[in-house]
Amino acid sequence: MYDLLVRGGRLVAPDGVGPADVAVADGVVAAVGPELDGTAAEIVDAGGLLLLPGVVDAHVHLNDPGRADWEGFATGTAALAAGGTTTAIDMPLNAIPPTLDAASLDAKVAAARGTARVDVALWGGLVPGDLDRLDELAAHGVVGFKAFMSASGVAEFEAADDLTLVQGMARAAQLGLPVAVHAESDALTGRLARRAVAAGRTTVRDYLASRPVLAELEAIGRAIAFATETGCALHVVHVSTGRGVALIAEARARGVDVTAETCPHYLVLDADDAERLGAAAKCAPPLRPAAEREALWARVHAGDVELVATDHSPSPAALKDTGADHFAAWGGIPGAQTLLTLLHTEAVARELPLERLARLLAAAPARRFGLAPRKGALVPGADADLVLLDPAAEWTLAREHLLDRHRLSPFVGRRLRGRVVRTILRGHTVARDGAVTGAPAGRILRRSPSDGAHAPMML
Ligand code: ZN
Repeated sequence: MYDLLVRGGRLVAPDGVGPADVAVADGVVAAVGPELDGTAAEIVDAGGLLLLPGVVDAHVHLNDPGRADWEGFATGTAALAAGGTTTAIDMPLNAIPPTLDAASLDAKVAAARGTARVDVALWGGLVPGDLDRLDELAAHGVVGFKAFMSASGVAEFEAADDLTLVQGMARAAQLGLPVAVHAESDALTGRLARRAVAAGRTTVRDYLASRPVLAELEAIGRAIAFATETGCALHVVHVSTGRGVALIAEARARGVDVTAETCPHYLVLDADDAERLGAAAKCAPPLRPAAEREALWARVHAGDVELVATDHSPSPAALKDTGADHFAAWGGIPGAQTLLTLLHTEAVARELPLERLARLLAAAPARRFGLAPRKGALVPGADADLVLLDPAAEWTLAREHLLDRHRLSPFVGRRLRGRVVRTILRGHTVARDGAVTGAPAGRILRRSPSDGAHAPMML
């Protein structure tokens, strides 16, 4: 007798896709296999559906407390749950205060209590003057430390100068935690942006030109050099080019512990979309020409991209509405709800095997950030986090489907293949057919720096 039996689906397992049932007891996967014996209090018919491990979105900005009017736990995690994500890793900005010490981390936990609909792990921040707080953040269970190599966009989260980055990496290496970097050269992007604005060149194309591919490549190269020297595990967030991924793959081949993340917007949008969509598609690094997008896909197919995450970063419409001055608009793309369906659509069209998709979206981020074996895989003993996806459904994303705070997705109007039918978190259905169900029951996940295993804390 189980609590839940999901019957008759096609399980996306690491070695391929095949028929399987999933049995759940006490929130944990009890058994996986075709036509399991036994019965359950709740039986879900998954005929015709794919069963995937719940998505682990390693890059989400839930700006709560302090900027919940941009995005908060309630709306952000509702969007995540509806889209098939069961674990989010929250960035240390743009909440006020940013997550830079134990007190600000506790404020995050308090904001999540009773409002989070998915499980949430936390990044801590690495900023100038904060080096002596890294130990305390590690003791409170952050998965790693995030640093900016160019301006973050908010005053309270300063970019890390080279010395801060080197010393932070050295300490992170001792703590056994990774450092994640936003890799763009401030020297290049800062000067180019100031020059463009001073000359009144503020269109979308001017903005794209102020953040050239070279700025990304230079910063990735420098971060790799620092990681090599310090022995720190390095994670490069939102890599926007195939050439950026190539630098990371070459370093990994030399034995450097470095991984690449990219985002759906770099995989499905390009510079022409940036011009068409305006501020809704503004991000940093910016959208690239179509040839760069295709080169990035080639790296995904080659296995050089470790994971895909959303960089979900909404803002109120007023911050996007800056008229002809594209530089003044807030940069950040909301994508919490569309990660799985966008990537499933592309995987089908581009013949990326579904087991690769599950690795990019669940297994790899869980493993990289110390949340495995509890998260990221549908195996006995793991948390019963799963998504039921109808792979045949074709539909068009509309604004009214969205559950995040401002529903300003650049993907509205896009034709999608695959629809999330049900999202299950630790054995409980948290979203069904695009709507959330039940009371918020997300937990804060804390990583133990000593062994990498997390001990989920009840909210
Ligand atoms: Zn981000």
